[in-house]
Amino acid sequence: MTDAPNLRIAVIGGGPGGYAAAFLAADLGMNVTLIDPEANPGGVCLYRGCIPSKALLHVAKLIDEAHHASNWGVEYSDPKIDLPHLRSWKEGVVKKLTGGLGQLSKQRKVEYIQGRASFENSNTLRVSRASGSEDLLTFDRVIIATGSRPAIIPSLKLDTPRMMDSTAALDLSDVPASLLVIGGGYIGLELGTVYAALGSKVSVVEMLPGLLPGADRDLVLPLHKRIEKIFDSIMLNTTVAAVKEESGGIRVTFDGPEVKDREKVFDKVLVSVGRKPNSEIPGLDKTQVHVGPRGFIQVNKQLQTTDPAIYAIGDVVGEPMLAHKASHEGRTAVEVIAGHKVAFEPNAIPAVVFTDPEIAWCGLTETQAQKDNREIKVARFPWGASGRAMTLDRTEGMTKLLLDPQTDRVLGVGIVGAGAGELIAEGVLAMEMAATATDIALTVHPHPTLSETIMESAEVFFGTSTHVYRPKR
Ligand SMILES: Cc1cc2nc3c(=O)[nH]c(=O)nc-3n(C[C@H](O)[C@H](O)[C@H](O)COP(=O)(O)OP(=O)(O)OC[C@H]3O[C@@H](n4cnc5c(N)ncnc54)[C@H](O)[C@@H]3O)c2cc1C
Repeated sequence: MTDAPNLRIAVIGGGPGGYAAAFLAADLGMNVTLIDPEANPGGVCLYRGCIPSKALLHVAKLIDEAHHASNWGVEYSDPKIDLPHLRSWKEGVVKKLTGGLGQLSKQRKVEYIQGRASFENSNTLRVSRASGSEDLLTFDRVIIATGSRPAIIPSLKLDTPRMMDSTAALDLSDVPASLLVIGGGYIGLELGTVYAALGSKVSVVEMLPGLLPGADRDLVLPLHKRIEKIFDSIMLNTTVAAVKEESGGIRVTFDGPEVKDREKVFDKVLVSVGRKPNSEIPGLDKTQVHVGPRGFIQVNKQLQTTDPAIYAIGDVVGEPMLAHKASHEGRTAVEVIAGHKVAFEPNAIPAVVFTDPEIAWCGLTETQAQKDNREIKVARFPWGASGRAMTLDRTEGMTKLLLDPQTDRVLGVGIVGAGAGELIAEGVLAMEMAATATDIALTVHPHPTLSETIMESAEVFFGTSTHVYRPKR
């Protein structure tokens, strides 16, 4: 990798996109300024997204396992939740990670400014520091990495702590007796899982006919079944028509063909109906950057905006709004600035839902293949045939490969089951290496592990899976 010293680079936003870009730019010898309102880099992912949610989900899993232990001959008494302690543990994780990023910035001599940036022109930023001072700073290139924020539905906006977005839900100010989650996407289901484990009666309402729209239905089914057991109710094909605060909570009016109770009162309501890009950066109109109709900044595969001095990466440029996509885009943008011949064109970007069971997929989905009328072959391996799943008492999972019928090449991978989020990385590598079903079937996987389910689904494709009997025709 060649270096590009002496270039002055500004990165606006210190999330996983922004700090990954800033660090690589410094490693390549550029003079880097990273601007973010927080005391240290981290962005949404570390302060109020991926990391705190996964810390709480870890605790939820532990509580759940303790409940299940009686199935295995071990009895625990009901867990006592020390909320301030749990909160401070979660905050400690965030503090350690963001503090570590602050250290890494210093070591790399990145100038980290706690503050906000606006544009004076394509090369000049007005930086308002948290300390109160303001500077005009000029750069050769600017990378916009301002991320996203929770979407708000105006009719569901009530100025009360009983109405929460994901940030407020992660603050964990209390464990409400009842919680309604509006939106059956991954953020709502993950946070609903946390509150259900801590003792809330959780309901989820989704306007579409299924949870996790976009994910294949066969992957969602085992999760749906489990959520049915731990949540109070799942309302599909249902919208929230109105919310009103009253003395005992939030009165919610539901609308839809399957609605049983048209009105219900909840202690708290979590609104998680998607995220909006932070593209309303003051002064952006003084540049040539073009913002598309859904608010995403428009970029090409080199992450270049329509302004030659300005690049944009991460949530602010579009779906999938995921941390790992942001980081890879950030690094690609920096390489392009350094003059390397690169583009951001991955074969697969994994998506993981960290519920219990987890759902993970990459590449083509069956839903998409059907929409595109594309011929594929699907090989499924049920975890009931996995020794490792049996030892974990988690046989509800399933691994599937989507394959090209002509070449046997892996076009997509889908997994539902415990630890699916870790397993999917093999699928992503398989796709990036243009692996075929033969490659996967011939790769020796360790026994007994859940990773064998990927190998055996390739064997299923050939009708020769050791642990799945296929009668001869
Ligand atoms: C509850 C929750 C759970 C999630 N879990 C996962 C997960 O498990 N895995 C995953 O991949 N993704 C997850 N995400 C999504 C993930 O957080 C985002 O995709 C990721 O943070 C996007 O990174 P980014 O660098 O584009 O921007 P962000 O992380 O959004 O960071 C942008 C930063 O820019 C700052 N900023 C904005 N405007 C300005 C300005 N004018 N000047 C200076 N700074 C500015 C913001 O304050 C912010 O700090 C989750 C999100 C939420 C809310």
